[in-house]
Amino acid sequence: MRTLFIIAVSLLCCFPSSARKVDRAKTSNVGTAYIDSSFGTYDAMQKKIHSFAELGYLEFKSSELLASHLESHGFTVERGVAGIPTAFVASYGSGSPVIGILAEYDALPGMSQDTVAFKKAIEPGAPGHGCGHNLLGTGSVAGAVAISKWLAQGHEGTVKLFGCPAEEGGGGKAYMTREGCFDGVDAVLDWHPDICNLVNVESGLANVQMRFTFHGVSSHASSAPEKGRSALDAVEAFNFMMNMMREHVPDGTRIHYAITDGGKAPNVVPERAEVLYYFRNQSRAVVQDLKERALKAAEGAAMGTGTTVEFEAVSGNFERLYNQRLAQVLQANLEAVGGVKYDERERSFAVEMLKASGITDLSVLEKPAMVLPLGSDYPTLRGVSSDVGNVTWVAPTASFRGAVFVPAGLGHCWQFTSSGGTTIGTKGIMNVAKVLFLTAYDLYTSPQTMAEVKAEFDAKRGKDFVFKPLIGDRKPPLDYRK
Ligand SMILES: [Zn+2]
Repeated sequence: MRTLFIIAVSLLCCFPSSARKVDRAKTSNVGTAYIDSSFGTYDAMQKKIHSFAELGYLEFKSSELLASHLESHGFTVERGVAGIPTAFVASYGSGSPVIGILAEYDALPGMSQDTVAFKKAIEPGAPGHGCGHNLLGTGSVAGAVAISKWLAQGHEGTVKLFGCPAEEGGGGKAYMTREGCFDGVDAVLDWHPDICNLVNVESGLANVQMRFTFHGVSSHASSAPEKGRSALDAVEAFNFMMNMMREHVPDGTRIHYAITDGGKAPNVVPERAEVLYYFRNQSRAVVQDLKERALKAAEGAAMGTGTTVEFEAVSGNFERLYNQRLAQVLQANLEAVGGVKYDERERSFAVEMLKASGITDLSVLEKPAMVLPLGSDYPTLRGVSSDVGNVTWVAPTASFRGAVFVPAGLGHCWQFTSSGGTTIGTKGIMNVAKVLFLTAYDLYTSPQTMAEVKAEFDAKRGKDFVFKPLIGDRKPPLDYRK
């Protein structure tokens, strides 16, 4: 991080924003004016979603707030797409190009946290927005509305805001991609909350999340153990085999599990036990292979313990096929908009939060104000998977990170939950909205750029590509958080 910081400072010094050519038609119009005058609207909206803190596929209030806001600005909204009640597609304008923007709004279990500079749950154990999806959804919607204001002035083109539920493990976009929601979209713009501003050109990891449920025979563990067949034994035998397997998998593979049901009492032979697994690798072909090997191990464990096993893929995500040309357009606009600057009140809040986190180096507070150069090494992005990966294989997509959190943690932490629900988060998303708007503007006004984006996508993906979802034909797991 420290190295990144130094590189970024030196590069920013080389390219001061004042030296850039200013295109007034692009930077001063109804779109940018709308964003400049809408801080209060989106500050209130992101804070509301922060307080709703709804888990994946249960984001009824959050998705409705965003969808109805878009409707009030003239968007046509289709709710409940892909068989998911909290998924929606909001469209505005007509003709091409069609620009898609992704929005997420699900919270994380157990991340409840008040918007204060120290660790304090609002309700211990309750969900919270530890990944900033309250900001992700709101910032994307703000950008889409700004684009619609510009399109309304007689410009040709369509903007589609995709309301994508359950990014955290539920894989909403995998189902939306499979059901064709993104068909006909010429370019997709995606962003994610972070502590820095950068364009993400990491392919990340493909992953699949599998649920294995073993069924045995219940019995008194002491007076009649011979009558029982332990489902927990099966889980343990299965885990043992999977841990042996780690030595014989391709480099860069990640396998992790959690026993989500291991029985209820030691004196009862467990008749049901369940374990959740993630398999990850840069290549989805490897992930597919790991999944097949795991199925065999699970069957072996069941056979050896006299139990039976059921399994299902809960979510499955492709690695990202990033579009370099689109990334360049995003980068130019991210640099033009610049980073986030705290006012005095926000800075004191941030300093207090750093202290509460045991961080003494206050120079980290410079990070949100900077824009990292394209292609910067950002190791944390290499190990992540996202359901955006699926989308990148059906439409040219580029992603960026927007600085919306105090840099006092590394993800899914109380510091992010807290600072993301303050004006620090709102400042970040107003920048994000502008980057989205300016990038869409470039794509609407430059057929040449659009053609280059498309040509790169066709060349990288190959002509005969057919999207085969890692989730197969199963229905969306709408109850995975219940
Ligand atoms: Zn996230």
